[in-house]
Amino acid sequence: MKPDDGYIKYIVNPKSGATSGKLVWNRFEKYLMKKGFDVRINLTQSLSHACELAVEAANDSDCAMTIAIGGDGTIREVAHGLEGSSTPLLILPGGTENLLANELGFNGKLETIIKTFDACYIRPLDLGNINGRCFTSIAGFGYDGEVVHRMNEQRSGHIDHYDYFWPIWRSFWNYKFEPMCVTIDGEEVYNGPGLVFVGNISRYAIGLQILHDANYSDGLLDVCVYKCGSQSHLVKHSLMTVLKHHSHCRDVIYRQGKKISIKSETDRIRTEIDGDPGPALPVEINVIPNAVQCVVPEGAKPAGIRTRIKRAIG
Ligand SMILES: [Mg+2]
Repeated sequence: MKPDDGYIKYIVNPKSGATSGKLVWNRFEKYLMKKGFDVRINLTQSLSHACELAVEAANDSDCAMTIAIGGDGTIREVAHGLEGSSTPLLILPGGTENLLANELGFNGKLETIIKTFDACYIRPLDLGNINGRCFTSIAGFGYDGEVVHRMNEQRSGHIDHYDYFWPIWRSFWNYKFEPMCVTIDGEEVYNGPGLVFVGNISRYAIGLQILHDANYSDGLLDVCVYKCGSQSHLVKHSLMTVLKHHSHCRDVIYRQGKKISIKSETDRIRTEIDGDPGPALPVEINVIPNAVQCVVPEGAKPAGIRTRIKRAIG
């Protein structure tokens, strides 16, 4: 990309992120300005504002690239705003988990961002649509939905990994495994108690490879159903997932599809999308193929569990 191609729109969530992330995007902005790029900084006031700013970028032919800085929530809203446009998106990770940035191969280092920007290698990113809301990465139903709702009730501003401890602990002991019915492309694949994940990326929190076959450009969503009725069963599933053997177990269903519906007779099952509270059941999920043009490090692989834990400890 050349400075003559147009201006670069920075969409920054000022509330998200550790200081190290802010240092990286400041230094990257200086790098761009030194190269003669017109960088226009926009601070977001809310998640919906992040989406509005991205819509403006998508509709402005003078905007050559959008750079989103924030956590998974901010990135999701920017991606939603850019849906269907040819304006490329570069993501600078600035949140706690950075699920999507990690999947695309970013590692938080300035050198990686500069190299990626200079090469401008683009891969399309599919989006998920759940009851009209958009997600980039993973939607969870059941236990992790409960954790995210608890986390959200106590959060004020930026969170780190340690903030998850009590929500995970309390949800674990109090959780009641209620039945859910999961249908994929018209076929009912499960009706019973458990946990369900639907997504576009292979690695979940702390790098767990729940949806290990997921490819964010293939026009399909991956679905993993853990049949689970008790706390001890959940511990067993967690261990098998860490060991990457879960999808070989008879009490796990792993599929891919384009249209997924999940319903339940109770209204107690909570959901999450990209780490934020999600809609109540029933839900209809569709894939939006080729939705956003993402600038990504060519050939990079997502970091695994060990690297992610090291980064989290900092
Ligand atoms: Mg996919």
